[in-house]
Amino acid sequence: MTYNILLLPGDGIGPEVLEETRRVLGWYSANRNLAFETTSDLVGGISFETHGAPATDAMMKKALAADAVLFGAVGGPKWDKLPFHQKPEQGLLRLRGDLGLFANLRPALCFDALKDASSLRPEIVAGLDILIVRELTGGVYFGKPKEITELPDGQKRAVDTQVYTTGEIERIARVAFELARLRGKRVASAEKSNVMVTGVLWREVVTRVHDKEFPDVALSHILADNCAMQLVRNPKQFDVIVTDNLFGDVLSDEAAQLTGSIGMLPSASLGAKDANGRQPSLYEPIHGSAPDIAGKGLANPIAAILSFAMCLRYSFGRVDDATLLEKAVERVLADGYRTGDIMQAGMTKVGTTAMTDAILKALDKLSG
Ligand code: NAD
Repeated sequence: MTYNILLLPGDGIGPEVLEETRRVLGWYSANRNLAFETTSDLVGGISFETHGAPATDAMMKKALAADAVLFGAVGGPKWDKLPFHQKPEQGLLRLRGDLGLFANLRPALCFDALKDASSLRPEIVAGLDILIVRELTGGVYFGKPKEITELPDGQKRAVDTQVYTTGEIERIARVAFELARLRGKRVASAEKSNVMVTGVLWREVVTRVHDKEFPDVALSHILADNCAMQLVRNPKQFDVIVTDNLFGDVLSDEAAQLTGSIGMLPSASLGAKDANGRQPSLYEPIHGSAPDIAGKGLANPIAAILSFAMCLRYSFGRVDDATLLEKAVERVLADGYRTGDIMQAGMTKVGTTAMTDAILKALDKLSG
């Protein structure tokens, strides 16, 4: 089977880290009985420059037809003053919307070699392996009304609307429970049922889905503010955390910080499976376009490369190949290779390409 992959490098360091991912793809097609057909297209600021829009219909058509999309990053100061609908980030939002990517998976993994890079004590983060499952297409970022109005007394009034339906909660809960079955079989569901009715419905629906379909997974409920606190107090108590769009945005950034560098962390966004089991998916590093280091060969490619490992696991069902890639990254870090963002005393400082060279060598060694 040949997998059809769309590469969307985007802006800033996006093209640099996706080029390294492409080399890893090359290693897998040469060594692991996997065939890829790749095409590339523009997204974000570069798409606006070329086509006048951050995402074109032609690009979206390719994304809809692909087995998986590998995304770099978008944005930069050059486009900060554009009207909202033309901003580079709208390219990513359109992809998420049109592909129906309602589940965002963000692992927070602490590699042993990097346990000293966290702002928490090493013993608190060593061996950390949690997965945050964030609802991505509903909630307060999309609910209507969403407006700023003028009041008769001259004040302004701003409204965002937090809204969730049973179906939206059911489908994200199922994703979290299914993933927990492949891991530690524990799900913590975070909401604010003490003060928000969406939280009350969230808790009710997650409990129902659990009791009916996933009784073998341990479910606990936690208020989102307490969850934020527990993540810095004792993050290893968690396995999978499932939460809504807003709380997921905040909690997943917090969890990312636990592991040291933003240049290390991958993510996956998944949609609903169709009748043939095909599932739209997009994989991206969680970092942005890092304009401060773009074009200098300094970017850490690991977040993008580990996003491809997630693609192997979730889109292609190649769990062993995904684990091999994660082990290769672990080996390279243990051998002391560091890009600038994760540099520590006594280690070997390398740039973007040399880090990938080391990962490819580790793949050779581990698979040979
Ligand atoms: P950023 O993640 O781009 O950078 C934050 C800091 O981390 C910078 O100092 C950067 O140099 C460093 N960094 C990030 N990735 C790195 C890597 N792989 N290797 C080494 N260092 C790395 O966040 P920002 O500075 O807030 O945003 C810059 C631009 O990116 C903005 O236009 C923003 O809108 C956009 N952005 C895009 C995405 C996305 O495409 N998904 C996400 C976040 C931000």
